[in-house]
Amino acid sequence: MNPPRSPHAYTARKNTSMTIIATTPAAMMSPAMRAKKAKPIPESSSADDETDGGEGCEVMGSGEEARGQRGSSTWDDGRNRTVASVRPRGETLSETDHAQGHRRRVLILGGGFAGIGAARKLKDADVDVVLVDRNDFHTFQPLLYQVATDLLEPAAVGHPLRDLFHDQPNAAVHQATVTAIDPAQREVRFGEMTPIRYDHLVLALGAQVNFFGVEGAAEHAFPLYTLADAVRLKEHILRRWEAADRDPALIDDGALNIVIVGGGPTGVESAGALAELYHSNLADDYRGIPQDAAHLTLVEAGPVLFSMFKPDIRTYTEKALAKRDVEVQLGEIVASVEPTRVMLRSGKSMPAHTLVWGAGLQGNPVLDSLGIGLQKGRRIGVAPDLRVPEHPEIFAVGDAAWITDAETDEVLPQLGSVALQAGEHAGQNIARVLAGRQTSPFRYHDKGTMATIGRGAAVIQLRRGKTIKGRSAALAWGAVHLALLSTGEDRAKAVVDWTWAGFTHERSARITVPT
Ligand SMILES: Cc1cc2nc3c(=O)[nH]c(=O)nc-3n(C[C@H](O)[C@H](O)[C@H](O)COP(=O)(O)OP(=O)(O)OC[C@H]3O[C@@H](n4cnc5c(N)ncnc54)[C@H](O)[C@@H]3O)c2cc1C
Repeated sequence: MNPPRSPHAYTARKNTSMTIIATTPAAMMSPAMRAKKAKPIPESSSADDETDGGEGCEVMGSGEEARGQRGSSTWDDGRNRTVASVRPRGETLSETDHAQGHRRRVLILGGGFAGIGAARKLKDADVDVVLVDRNDFHTFQPLLYQVATDLLEPAAVGHPLRDLFHDQPNAAVHQATVTAIDPAQREVRFGEMTPIRYDHLVLALGAQVNFFGVEGAAEHAFPLYTLADAVRLKEHILRRWEAADRDPALIDDGALNIVIVGGGPTGVESAGALAELYHSNLADDYRGIPQDAAHLTLVEAGPVLFSMFKPDIRTYTEKALAKRDVEVQLGEIVASVEPTRVMLRSGKSMPAHTLVWGAGLQGNPVLDSLGIGLQKGRRIGVAPDLRVPEHPEIFAVGDAAWITDAETDEVLPQLGSVALQAGEHAGQNIARVLAGRQTSPFRYHDKGTMATIGRGAAVIQLRRGKTIKGRSAALAWGAVHLALLSTGEDRAKAVVDWTWAGFTHERSARITVPT
């Protein structure tokens, strides 16, 4: 009999019952799922074979884990025992659980690039994988600004998490908010369901916006970090244009003006895309409103835009923004935000009903419950193999982690490519540990840093410093971001929307939906 899928199945009470994780039969996989991605780990080898060898790290954990044989149904820790591929209904994850030969559990917190990467690499491991996210979808953050500017539908950058694991029988997904992590009990608590215990934990909770205590920012600014943020910004802008259409006096009050804070990729990409939305679509939609009635201003505290890029890219970017009528103010710091005004520390007051916040990130507050010292930005410092030194059964990856590059000794940036690669590596290392092998240090394969400023205008800086700008960079940017999308279905949606917008300059997602 199939057990219920209730998260209560994972409750960590001793001597109480535990039900099994139901799995989805292959026949129920969607065509998109069958068509897609995740490279299976060969059954005959360990989770990854490419980087093992002499540079391995210490084998983690007690003898039980170290001696377990992956790919076999027998574990040898002095007593032979059979590993059940499916846990019988009515048993707990307790001290006796492993002794009875039940599979270990890897709990993954967060279904972003890092969490998904880790889960997929455990596909063929002899372990139960449980992934929990507060949303029922994976968010493709690099394209959020395209949702905010009506270029893509929300569904193109948010993919159902459960759909991503239809072909992974050892994985289960739950939607719940993590409220606390208790490493002593090896247990995680949630707002909406009972706690889950783990043998290995992957922390992939990403980061969240940091308003740096700027007065009024939390209440009135529009961050761009979640899908909800993108939809909220998009609808706010469209509503401001409708309001100005009804009452033109609002234009002088700054109803159509936007201040974008932050001269990094989020700020620059948003500024370029908003400018194109304003000058093409909204100008056509609201023919009664003069073209020059709306002002877009990009404010950056530092002396340059794109500080991570080489000077030729910065110059190109400034020109590309100027061509799109985006005013750039460098060396300016936002002091406070009101619903219709942005005040700068220099004393300037800018009439603007919209402030887009692309200025900073901080770690998830729930990480404080780990009870360990955190690095700058509330990120978790990890060992070279991505384990948390204080708790070697815990791995931290993605934006939540402070990962030092083994080659350059520099801290890796909070990027999707870093998150995906680190998540995959953590999954591989856990599979290694489960198989009684050594973990290996993480090495980031830097394929270059890129950003887009608008249609046909993008920049790429390759690892050895070579730069590419303009249309060819834009094509490469499109190809890379398409490849990063979760499924063939998502890629197809993005291609259709981009192609349509490329030829027609149309943005079909330009509607507001009252809820
Ligand atoms: C606007 C924008 C543009 C970007 N552009 C690029 C780009 O062009 N290229 C690039 O490489 N990178 C880009 N990045 C960075 C990249 O998106 C991140 O580095 C990457 O998403 C980090 O992945 P992650 O898995 O660590 O975290 P996330 O993707 O943030 O995933 C974390 C997950 O944890 C979940 N979560 C958080 N808190 C809780 C909780 N308490 N309980 C349960 N679940 C929780 C979230 O719902 C989320 O699904 C961009 C980021 C932004 C915001």
